[in-house]
Amino acid sequence: MLDADFFRRWMTVAAVSMDREADRLTALDSPIGDADHGSNLQRGFAAVRTVLEKEAPDTPGGVLALAGRQLISTVGGASGPLYGTLLRRTGKALGDAAEVSEEQLAEALRAGVDGVRTLGGAAPGDKTMVDALVPAVDALADGFTAARSAAEQGAEATTPLQARKGRASYLGERSIGHQDPGATSSALLIAALAEAADGAEG
Ligand code: ADP
Ligand code: MG
Repeated sequence: MLDADFFRRWMTVAAVSMDREADRLTALDSPIGDADHGSNLQRGFAAVRTVLEKEAPDTPGGVLALAGRQLISTVGGASGPLYGTLLRRTGKALGDAAEVSEEQLAEALRAGVDGVRTLGGAAPGDKTMVDALVPAVDALADGFTAARSAAEQGAEATTPLQARKGRASYLGERSIGHQDPGATSSALLIAALAEAADGAEG
């Protein structure tokens, strides 16, 4: 079972990863965006870490809902409300249980990804974070490591796509040939989940 500590660890590992990879995410956002994706998520997840330490929610749902609210209020770009919705909706779906199973998390994350799709209007293949998140949620039934690989493959598979949503879509065909920054950060978020799970087992 996964408790609030597990979810706090997920957010902490994600914050460390966004900080470490900020330059790479911003570099990906240069040719097909406005070069702020790395700094957006670095700032957002640092704020998540701070608020989780301060308020210390004691349920999995509470941790994710607070993290989501914090991302929405600290990240100005498109990705703030989208990641904020992902975490808030996932947290809401987990309810106020003190511990949740992996199956419950997989189901809740599916609700979170549906929230992202509703808010942003993106479908798989539109070259967005959805292209990493949907395969990750599909693979979660096979475990965290499978979800991580699926998200990474999904992110890499955005390179030949033409963007149909977000800032990159303004470039039309010129968006082809670049990996999507948001799909890349989503793969980092799922990798952080797998890493948090490794910590729980070991
Ligand atoms: P902004 O585009 O406002 O500068 P960011 O650079 O932080 O925001 O985030 C860009 C990423 O957000 C994109 O790479 C893409 O993955 C994601 N994104 C943008 N618009 C949408 C959308 N409508 N639906 C899903 N994801 C989106
Ligand atoms: Mg940007």
